[in-house]
Amino acid sequence: MLLKQLTLHSQPARYLSTSLARPQSFRKWYQQLWTTKRTNLPPYGHFTQIGDPVLRDKAAEVPADYVDSKEIRAIVDQMVSVLRKYNCVGIAAPQIGVSLRIIAMEFNPSIKKELPDITWKTRQMSELPLTVFINPQLAVTDYIKHKHAEGCMSVRGFSGEVERYAGVKLSGLNREGVATELELSGWNARIAQHEMDHLDGKLYIDHMDRSTFMCTCWETVNTKSGRVEIPFYK
Ligand SMILES: [Zn+2]
Repeated sequence: MLLKQLTLHSQPARYLSTSLARPQSFRKWYQQLWTTKRTNLPPYGHFTQIGDPVLRDKAAEVPADYVDSKEIRAIVDQMVSVLRKYNCVGIAAPQIGVSLRIIAMEFNPSIKKELPDITWKTRQMSELPLTVFINPQLAVTDYIKHKHAEGCMSVRGFSGEVERYAGVKLSGLNREGVATELELSGWNARIAQHEMDHLDGKLYIDHMDRSTFMCTCWETVNTKSGRVEIPFYK
């Protein structure tokens, strides 16, 4: 009980403000995100890190009236900007500190050049143009599971092997608010499952094979006598 109280009292004030409690108060909630100093309030230009309560919250649906609004467009634009700045393949709104059900994915051809061919093939990777889903739902279309190492920009510097379904179908609204569906397989299906988990406050570490959890730069830590930094900025 004492621990619970301490935990609750130690939450930063913005924890309360990044979650949308009631759809009807959307405008008021949204404005406070932007009207206070931008330097330390969401929507961030960096990835929130594990421990931040926003990553454990169940994100709220974007209210229907606001799906095609300048407010949501600004959040989506910020998500895409952060996604591309960090050169990664997926992002969910809680990762920029906004507890709303929005995800963005993009498997840019440039990433392929950085990967060995064998990785591309065994992980069944394929290019994916920028895809945004608002209030998405996920259905499994192929129940075969594949286990691969996976990382998360919100658990920076680590990876672990996770089993994911081989095929899924996403349905929801695109960034223009139009109902849309998308079937994904292989690595892109993995990205979708990973990002959908973020909307329910789940991280890959919750269902990884814990024996495979590792610091991605552990070898460099040895060769550089520990002089390695994991940057949280770009
Ligand atoms: Zn993630």
